[in-house]
Amino acid sequence: MTAETTIVTSIAELRATLDAERAAGRSVGFVPTMGYLHDGHGSLIEAAAAANDVTFVSIFVNPLQFAPGEDLEAYPRDLEADAALSVAAGAALIFAPSVEEMYPEPILTSVHVNTVSDPLEGRHRPTHFDGVSTVVSKLFAIAGPCRAYFGEKDWQQLAIVRRMASDLSFPVEVVGCPIVREPDGLAMSSRNVYLTSEERTQALVLNQALRHGIELIEAGERDPDIVERVVSAMIETQPAAEIDYVGVVDAMTLLEPAPLAGEVRLLTATRFGKARLLDNMGVVVPD
Ligand code: AMP
Repeated sequence: MTAETTIVTSIAELRATLDAERAAGRSVGFVPTMGYLHDGHGSLIEAAAAANDVTFVSIFVNPLQFAPGEDLEAYPRDLEADAALSVAAGAALIFAPSVEEMYPEPILTSVHVNTVSDPLEGRHRPTHFDGVSTVVSKLFAIAGPCRAYFGEKDWQQLAIVRRMASDLSFPVEVVGCPIVREPDGLAMSSRNVYLTSEERTQALVLNQALRHGIELIEAGERDPDIVERVVSAMIETQPAAEIDYVGVVDAMTLLEPAPLAGEVRLLTATRFGKARLLDNMGVVVPD
């Protein structure tokens, strides 16, 4: 099978194909992405292909989730390489619609998930998650019954999508997959191409600082402000680092428990030059 034969651009064609697969008794796995795929995406595709009979990857740089002045136009794109990686990881089909196919007229509908969307990333990119929730709703409506795979790399997004699928009774099982990192610890991201080599070296501090924060909690620290301050100070030792936020929150509600208890997640968004990098780590707070 060549990569070209696997690319579908029409909603109607994708629906017909997936309906036929399900009618023949085959289960569908779905991996939504914005393309420029790396091994992090590859791990999602492999997980989907291992658990489902037919896996498809969507590649769509969704304008709704970019605010004016963000990197919508600059976002890296390479459909041919994406198709090759998807097929190698086990996908049978790539859905790569145009903006016109997805939004033939200005979309008047917006999906908003309360509370979980508000803090952290939501505070810094106030329109972002509504754009994500809206496009994921649309993709779920197009896909039909399936399992959909999302990375823990975007932890808050995963929490929002889980809640949305449950609240709106989408016939979709949302599956979270662990963060895939480079050998030196940097979380893989399509946006890592924006880093200069100096910035890339400095960005290693994110993984190190988060690990340190988790160790503090494991050693008995229960004050989220202290954890956030120590992690922020460590990130700020790197001259290029500009922190948007460091937060430690309940893993599901995204609310800040004080004192820390239960399953918590330590998250950051930090800029290095043109790249705005997300990373996070979790821990179950010992009793
Ligand atoms: P994106 O193309 O960046 O929108 O990401 C598409 C999906 O891949 C999302 O569910 C991400 O969380 C996931 N993803 C991106 N990077 C990684 C990574 N390094 N490890 C695991 N999943 C990832």
